[in-house]
Amino acid sequence: MKDFPLEDLNSSQKEAVFYCEGPLLVLAGAGSGKTRVVTYKYAYLAKEVGINPSSIFTVTFTNKAADEMKERIFRMCNGGWKNVWIGTFHSLCLRILRKHIERLGFKKDFIIYDEDDQNALVKRILKDLNMHEALCKCIVTKLSNLKSNLITPESYISSTNEGFEFEERLGRIYMRYQNELRRYNAVDFDDLILYTIKLFEENEDLLKHYSEHFKYILVDEFQDTNKSQYTLLKYLCKYHNNICVVGDDDQSIYKFRGANLYNIFEFEKDFPQVKVVKLEQNYRSTKHIVFAATEMISKNTVRKTKNLWTARDWGEKIFYCQLCNEDEEAKYIAKTIKELYLKGDYEYRDFAVLYRLTLQTRALEEYLRIEGIPYQIISGVSFYHRKEIKDILAYMRIILNKDDNVSLMRIINTPSRSIGASICLKIEQEAKRQMISNYEAIKRLIKDESAPTVMKDKLFLFYTTIEELSQRKYKDAASMIREILNATEYLEEIDEEKIQNVLELINFAEGCSPQEFIDKMALLSNVDIWEDKKNRVSLLTLHAAKGLEFPVVFIAGCEEGIIPYFKAMEDPQELQEERRLFYVGMTRAKDLLFLTAATQRKLYSKVQKQEPSSFLKDIPQQCYHCIRKDYSSFIPTLQEETEKPKPPFTTGCKVKHPTWGVGVVRDCYGEGDDLKVIVNFPSVGVKKLALKVVNLEKL
Ligand code: ATP
Ligand code: MG
Repeated sequence: MKDFPLEDLNSSQKEAVFYCEGPLLVLAGAGSGKTRVVTYKYAYLAKEVGINPSSIFTVTFTNKAADEMKERIFRMCNGGWKNVWIGTFHSLCLRILRKHIERLGFKKDFIIYDEDDQNALVKRILKDLNMHEALCKCIVTKLSNLKSNLITPESYISSTNEGFEFEERLGRIYMRYQNELRRYNAVDFDDLILYTIKLFEENEDLLKHYSEHFKYILVDEFQDTNKSQYTLLKYLCKYHNNICVVGDDDQSIYKFRGANLYNIFEFEKDFPQVKVVKLEQNYRSTKHIVFAATEMISKNTVRKTKNLWTARDWGEKIFYCQLCNEDEEAKYIAKTIKELYLKGDYEYRDFAVLYRLTLQTRALEEYLRIEGIPYQIISGVSFYHRKEIKDILAYMRIILNKDDNVSLMRIINTPSRSIGASICLKIEQEAKRQMISNYEAIKRLIKDESAPTVMKDKLFLFYTTIEELSQRKYKDAASMIREILNATEYLEEIDEEKIQNVLELINFAEGCSPQEFIDKMALLSNVDIWEDKKNRVSLLTLHAAKGLEFPVVFIAGCEEGIIPYFKAMEDPQELQEERRLFYVGMTRAKDLLFLTAATQRKLYSKVQKQEPSSFLKDIPQQCYHCIRKDYSSFIPTLQEETEKPKPPFTTGCKVKHPTWGVGVVRDCYGEGDDLKVIVNFPSVGVKKLALKVVNLEKL
């Protein structure tokens, strides 16, 4: 093991990395190096044990985490391998399905329906059944839960109780939904897992092939797997039981997506010969943060106890600040970030503001903007959900798969071709009557002698555009997008900002095959598009923060009804889940943790009185400073400053140092002989200088 970096691991981590025969459960607290163990174990298996890298099936929680892991492993092993299987459950299953889905009666070029597509499809089904569209979201969630619990439409229908109208209807919707997807040659996210399991269940040869091919299975964030994912893992290690799962039962926070906390407890029963390794040293946070978070989570009853400790200093206490409303709260956060940044200890990328509800971003964004602080929101309404992006992707999808009715109907009149609702209805009726795809229906309508000429002309134009685009050969996805834009004159109808977005999409598509690109886009999650290399403050939900770490963390809205969320407050299980979410948030912080709350907040267009979160009571008092309404102290400071003589340098101005060259001033403070200036020099970084002794030239 001459090249293996053993010194990077403590003794329990080493134990977990070196144990390679049979099932292994690494059960450990936040920041204790679980993800590090997975990464090193992969490198160890590939480099020292001699397992072919393409035979290690490694599951991470996001695509971004997978990319980072790949990068790190390649660096450790001095080289890259082409055919590695490191990814999310969805992306890994997609690879298997692309090879074998024909055995399940789908075509190889099937497409993936994302949440928007699912909503569009369910709405159409609801309309057909004369049900209210408002039920859509609830139905999509219910369907997803059934699927992640491996309940098929048939088994659901046979299990429903007679006389329960909603259940009966849900059964019918489920059946319809699955049939329609099949007709469109489409699968949704849950199907990716379900159909892979189905492949294994129905094809012993495939099961044998894959479970023999994968010599080792590695899983990070195991506490958030659902039943179908766990079942898949059991299939994959069926012949050798070489599986290592790592997780923290205190960080299971995706129950609403079907995650089953009990998987982590079941693992020991399912694999009786399991070896359990606990990691107890936290490397991330200061003692105050580790102690506070550990005490807080210890109030949950359904958990395995752990002793988390850290060798780091006590550090600063946690700051708790209650303000009068959400605007003051946001102002406090923005001012504090600015102040810490100007002091020079932190860059903007070192800060994260976490929140429970997306509606909280409104005020936060406003005050960050006022302070001139660069930020990025890592949220669902991201670049890739914009209309223009979705339109272009819909064109790509219909070119590759003519059965995709949802994409077809999305772009049939975008840009405008005067194909209105009545023509669309006609197409859909025709398709249903003849049991064909909408695209095929268009083709037949064009040839139909009895159909009105005006309609036929419009459809003909659309049809020939798509046909021509389908017959070309494309170098890559980017060239396909360019041809689509040419053929449809899509850019003519949209404004400059949208054009820029489309151009950025082209950049992103460069070098990918069209199919690869569409798959990649379909599987992107919020965190995947986070540009962590950019020097900006990150705004993200507590859920999205899982697995990440930041030097300075703010948790905004620490109030009853927000965290814990009001819907969860009545149910003891849900309440424990909320506590875990709060624990995840607290344990993201390395050095400084700020908890903020408002006494009054506008929520769902009503101003409400707010109480501090009950979780705060479970943080030991010696761990935090209470800076109640301290925000007002900013105002006298600001007023004083206006009366004082102006400092020689202002924030943002450029200066020249005799040896370090040009830099940008971050702050200038003090008076007379004691004047100090903080400057960021690209050559040497941030420096604090006494103006008495250095000669700075203002540029
Ligand atoms: P989470 O529970 O948030 O997923 P985790 O248990 O996966 O955390 P990691 O992210 O792997 O923990 O590690 C947390 C931090 O501690 C990282 O910055 C990592 O580099 C560092 N770390 C882990 N193990 C060691 C070690 N043995 N020596 C030094 N640093 C370590
Ligand atoms: Mg981790």
